[in-house]
Amino acid sequence: MKFATKAIHAGQEADPTTGAVMTPIYQTSTYKQASPGEHKGFEYSRGTNPTRKALEDCLAALENGKFGMAFSSGMAATDTVLRLLKPGDEVVTGDDLYGGSYRIFTKVYAEYGIKFVFVNTSDASEVEKALTEKTKLIWIETPTNPTLKIADIASIGRVAKKYDVLFVVDNTFASPYLQNPLDLGADIVMHSATKYLNGHSDVVMGALVMRSEALYQKLWFYYNAVGGTPGPQDAFLALRGLKTLHVRMKAHCENARLVAAFLKDHPKVEKIYWPGLVDHPGHDLAKKQMRDFGGMISIVLRDADLQETFRVASRFQVFTLAESLGGVESLVNHPASMTHGSIPKDAREKVGVVDNLLRLSVGIEDPEDLIADLGRVLR
Ligand SMILES: *Cc1c(COP(=O)(O)O)cnc(C)c1O
Repeated sequence: MKFATKAIHAGQEADPTTGAVMTPIYQTSTYKQASPGEHKGFEYSRGTNPTRKALEDCLAALENGKFGMAFSSGMAATDTVLRLLKPGDEVVTGDDLYGGSYRIFTKVYAEYGIKFVFVNTSDASEVEKALTEKTKLIWIETPTNPTLKIADIASIGRVAKKYDVLFVVDNTFASPYLQNPLDLGADIVMHSATKYLNGHSDVVMGALVMRSEALYQKLWFYYNAVGGTPGPQDAFLALRGLKTLHVRMKAHCENARLVAAFLKDHPKVEKIYWPGLVDHPGHDLAKKQMRDFGGMISIVLRDADLQETFRVASRFQVFTLAESLGGVESLVNHPASMTHGSIPKDAREKVGVVDNLLRLSVGIEDPEDLIADLGRVLR
């Protein structure tokens, strides 16, 4: 099956008891057993729930994986992967990460004796150089957040294989519609399903997808033991959102193309980051490993201090000033004070998260209205 058919059908049989075409919201914590241990595959909803299972099977299909797991947030998904590590282990990761990932690495797991090494993942040889005997995990994002650097998943995958290190790709920014890391050598794909997968800014959820059953069993042990599980209502909403992922992503990419073309030569824009632009350093690689360039654009405002940047960010009428991304509505975010506020100033400025950087999540409204809004605000 191809992508759109999988998005609409994978994991979603008509309900066996009633014939309901849409997967019901199984709002139940527990399941009747005929005799102790004899059940229909569901025992207790911390571990398994039918609505969630439909979503997990659909996610697995979209990422060309075998096993999907849905979590109460992207961070809960990340946390479950990190539980595979032991004190003394090392992780090689990107220097341009989602702020919450940086925070859980440095403020939570570093306290348990795990070492995190931050490198420029757009150069696979930097990743290889940072590996030691103790490295157990490589964790990357591509495109990165917020400066949209592109990492070569296949090259890093080869490095991971060569040194027998687990390789995780946070695929939140691309979504499975644009890129499938498991096909390029990743062991686990992680998602904040809050973003493009659900796509309507009404659910917080995370996901992992993998092919190895042994790895799935290990992760599922922590999943069930720790309990970062989402409720069935949210699983239903995310499943509904997934059905239009391909339609939405096409529109996000097309609108981003038009918005980027408008901003690229705008006198108030000093710098623009969008992998679809030919002078973006990751453009050729993005063209190779992604099917399109995504809906995220970051810009650096010319001659704007923090106050002027705040003024610009507060004047939008169609874009909404808010954290998050990937919903049908356009959002603008000030990374330095919002999503990346938990990263120390010098660390974030080194990777381009300066005070006059704004990140746009280009929605699927009429592009003329988005461009008019940007034009008015920048004037
Ligand atoms: C939002 C986000 C996360 C965290 O996910 P939550 O659902 O907010 O917990 C992780 N990685 C990236 C790239 C994100 O954008």
